[in-house]
Amino acid sequence: MLTKLLGAAGALALQATADTDQLDYTLEMSSEVGMTYVTIALTLTGEADGETGIILPGNWGGQDALWGAVEDISVTSEDGTVAVLITDDPSRLTLTHEPGAALTLSYSITPERTGEPQASAGDYYRPYVEPDWVHLIGHTVFAVPDSDAEFEVSMALDAPPGWTLASDLEQGELDVEALLTSITVAGDFRIQEQRVDGAPQRVAIRGDHAFTDADMAQSVQQVLAANEAYWGAEPEPFLVTVLPLEAEPGHMSVGGTNLGDAFAFFTTNNAEAGILLRILTHEHVHTWIPGRVGGPISGENEPAGYWFSEGFTDFLTQRAAVRAGLWPAEAAITAWNEALLEDFNSPVRDAPNDAIIAGFWTDPDFQRLPYHRGMIFAALVDHTIRAETGGRLDLDDVFAAMRDEPPVEPAPLVFAEIVLDITNVDITDLYERHIINGEPISLPAETFGDCGPVETISEPVFVYGMSGQRDEAGRFEITAVDPDGPAAPAGFQPGMIILERLEGSVGDARVDSVLRVQTPEGETLDLRYRPTNGEMQTYPRIAIASGDLASNGCAARLAGLPETRTD
Ligand SMILES: [Zn+2]
Repeated sequence: MLTKLLGAAGALALQATADTDQLDYTLEMSSEVGMTYVTIALTLTGEADGETGIILPGNWGGQDALWGAVEDISVTSEDGTVAVLITDDPSRLTLTHEPGAALTLSYSITPERTGEPQASAGDYYRPYVEPDWVHLIGHTVFAVPDSDAEFEVSMALDAPPGWTLASDLEQGELDVEALLTSITVAGDFRIQEQRVDGAPQRVAIRGDHAFTDADMAQSVQQVLAANEAYWGAEPEPFLVTVLPLEAEPGHMSVGGTNLGDAFAFFTTNNAEAGILLRILTHEHVHTWIPGRVGGPISGENEPAGYWFSEGFTDFLTQRAAVRAGLWPAEAAITAWNEALLEDFNSPVRDAPNDAIIAGFWTDPDFQRLPYHRGMIFAALVDHTIRAETGGRLDLDDVFAAMRDEPPVEPAPLVFAEIVLDITNVDITDLYERHIINGEPISLPAETFGDCGPVETISEPVFVYGMSGQRDEAGRFEITAVDPDGPAAPAGFQPGMIILERLEGSVGDARVDSVLRVQTPEGETLDLRYRPTNGEMQTYPRIAIASGDLASNGCAARLAGLPETRTD
């Protein structure tokens, strides 16, 4: 019995020192007299040849030289023989040591710039270590071994007393990828947590916004639930962080980064919740597309698959959102009409798919092309499958099959084959024409069913005919009137204040606009004009049906559900 115990203890000890695949991190935040310090320590087993390479934060997310925030580097080993060789490459360290020695590397994160994040600076992915708060994206702060080995990672997080703390590093098992694609926030962030079937879904917000914390938390939970319901997935832990950006008054900026089991938002305080939620829904769909249905085309040809990974993601963003009741049908149709118009107006709308490979990184029109082309192609495929199977099957059945049995080949390359396999509908010709060759798609009129027909609209071009700005009281003051435009003959003049709109709307030249103005002399006038230059334009649009879209079958069509009328 005794020998057995000793043997077991000896084996355990041996395992502890020989476990070269373990990385133990600590991330310690401390606060003293108005200063915050972030110290990161990594304990690992040195390489058997006595030389261990370390990769420091480098370039990520458009940010360069992230090693600049890494200071006070120290390395220790149990036998005290470790040394750091500084190389020419500031993103690397080389540690020399006894073969297999237990090493501890520690350093502080001291950002070069301090103060609140600014929308105009564009550097908000960099680490923030402020007196009252901390915002750290894994890629920008963690050093990792220069090794292809698969490591198990542990993390101990510590924040000052009284600080809140939220990190996706607290969500389940870690590896190096999860470490780098992580977000840790602490300090004056306010945290809302909901447990869904045991999975913690959290929102961490700082600053004041156009939405309440509770409303955002509830909406985030609905987005996650909508996608999980669509894919028949168990709830998974998720963290959404919201960091406010300072900006010039009136300027709005919303951005963020997808971190797998988390999403980090950066936003000015004037953004509506809907903008953040649309981004979040799209990004959360990426949990499945393309990763869990076969994966992307990898390497430099990756953009050749974006019609699938981005365009189909936008298609499912609206489908899952309508199905979950998160978006009314009207919101989805607005999104569709925006996509149809953007596609119609794109100067590269008939470019072949291969042109996206190079164009994506250099040309904003090519960057957008796979989004609207792919979304519209998804609607075409969905409609085609439904039409040819008498409504028995649609795109959802294809996705369900891909989820259950992901193809070995990248999903975009085998999508047409899978559609044929699952539905017996051959879309090869559509794929060749519209994706590979870039022939613009004209959706069949009945694509959106009871939502209304897809039509080509011909209408006058909207021209406002004047410009202006808000005065100190927030009122819109006309500063210039185009003498050759439609507003001048109606009597609009610089210096007038627009008090209210009585008829018409911005962007609509089919009807008169009537605006109530106040002249510089204090007189109030109602001025009527037709805001157009007389030219006509044509574009495709879903002509929204009259009646209740929620019950007339429209919402069901958008949601990909059987169109049982409830009216
Ligand atoms: Zn995307």
